[in-house]
Order: sequence, then C-alpha cells, then structure tokens
Amino acid sequence: MENLSTKDIVLKYNFKFTKSLGQNFLTDDTVLDDIVEGADITEEDYVIEIGPGVGTLTKELLKRAKKVTSIELDERLIPILQEELKEFPNFQLVHKDALKVDYDELIGEEKSVKVVANLPYYVTTPIIASLLNGKYNIKSITIMIQKEVAERIDAEPSTKDYGAFSLLAQYYCDTKIIRRVPPSSFIPSPKVDSIVIRLDILEKPRVQVKDEKLFFSIIRQSFNMRRKTLSNAMKNVGLDKETLKEAFEKANIDSGRRGETLSIEEFANLANTVSELK
Ligand code: SAM
Repeated sequence: MENLSTKDIVLKYNFKFTKSLGQNFLTDDTVLDDIVEGADITEEDYVIEIGPGVGTLTKELLKRAKKVTSIELDERLIPILQEELKEFPNFQLVHKDALKVDYDELIGEEKSVKVVANLPYYVTTPIIASLLNGKYNIKSITIMIQKEVAERIDAEPSTKDYGAFSLLAQYYCDTKIIRRVPPSSFIPSPKVDSIVIRLDILEKPRVQVKDEKLFFSIIRQSFNMRRKTLSNAMKNVGLDKETLKEAFEKANIDSGRRGETLSIEEFANLANTVSELK
C-alpha cells in the first residue's frame, strides 16, 4: 500500500485549496494518531467522518474501524478520495453538505457509532448542535475545533465563555480534551490554535427536564440578554408577572441574578417550575 502524505496527495492532483470551505489539511502524523487514539476507534465501530479532505485521517480510521462513511462537500475531492482509498472495502463516500445529511438513514441498525470530524470552523457549532439535538444513536463525537469553541464547551457559570452552547454540550455529553493542535500542523496554516475534543454522549441527559423546548428557550432568552436580570430576560416566557415571581420563589432562585450565573441544575429546576405553572 502506497503511503502518501497529505502534501504528496495535494501535489499529485495539483489540488488548490478553497478558503471558504475551511480547507486546512492536517500534515502532522502525531495529530492523526492522537485523533484516532482519542476517539477510541475499535473494529466494532462504524465511523462517520465529516470533511475528509484528501483522506489522510480517513485512511487511519479505515485501518481501525469496521466501516467508515465520509461526508465531503467539495466535488473536486470526490475522485481523489475514491482513487486514494480504493483498496479499502470498508469505505463509503457521501458527496453532500454535512448539514443536510439524514443521519438516521446512515446509521441504520449500527450499534456502535462514532463521529470524527475536522471541519471548517464556521460549520462546527451548527453540526455539533444538530448531531446532539437529533438524538441519533451516536456514542461519541471527536472533533477538531477552534480553541475558543472548546473553551465555551467546557465553561463554568459566571465566566465569559459560559453560554447557551456550553449548556447544550453539558446537557448531552461528558467532554474530554484530547490535545492542542498548533497552526503549523496544517497546510495552509490557519490563524488560530485548535483543540481536539471528544464529546461522549450520555445515556440520559445530565439533568431531568420536563419540557426540553422550554428549557432551551429559557437558556437562550437568558443569554440573549446577558446583562439583564433573569426577571427581565424571562419576560416573554409566557407567564404573567405574578406567576413568574412565584416560579422564582418555588425554584429558590433570586430573580435579580443574571442567567450567566445559573448552573445547568438551576436552569433545569427553573424550567421545570415554569412548566408546572404554565
Ligand atoms: N479531514 C481533513 C484533514 O484533517 O486534513 C480535512 C479537514 S478540512 C479542515 C475540512 C474539510 O471539510 C474540507 O475537505 C472541506 O471541503 C470539507 N467541508 C467543508 N464544508 C463542509 C460541509 N458543509 N459538509 C461536508 N464537508 C465539508
């Protein structure tokens, strides 16, 4: 088996990078190894890879997993991937926007599904949100993200990074930072530091919530008006002033606090109380 590096493949096909597709390809073998190790890929796993590029990470995944489906948007990469990975019978390629894929259909009856992605940063947040909210049968998502996004995922209440995205990730997952990746590990080099993080999907969400839509809507309202107190931010939650006051009392939460100080347990408690009084 010919083992071409990312740079070799780019040269072989005279591939020209498209900045708007976030095409920064990994060139550092230690990062490839750490992603595959960190994702804990075994021969029982069905891996869905998002954004394979020229397939260097894909090849490492194919050597370990039962099957890999890679989803790539750039049509110029399709023949390159087909050619470079043709000796792997366990490889499947989907030419599509990862935001428009029917993941339930892809997953089918597979039992041990792991997502691995090195994505353009502009689609990272919507992809993570749609994979989590879709409640697909996925065990983990191992993803390369901008350092700042990792800090938001791992953030604690009352810090500048804490927000609706932190609570979404913490509601559905445990998180584990695998490693930092410097700009020099990619061609071309991005301007920012990256982090590989693994999101392990919990069997049950971290807190018990009666009405998830209401829970996330309260969270969004609280962070849309970060500087406002909870009682101001939650004016549109569908309760009159008196009942809203009662909800804060029952939940034992001071309505003068700002949303950004509430833990996930406190948001759940507040949402459950509001849902009882509605
Ligand atoms: N995995 C490769 C690596 O590690 O070298 C490439 C990573 S590169 C940061 C991101 C890849 O995602 C590119 O190949 C790009 O064409 C692809 N891509 C961009 N937007 C996409 C989308 N919406 N759906 C699927 N793939 C996308």
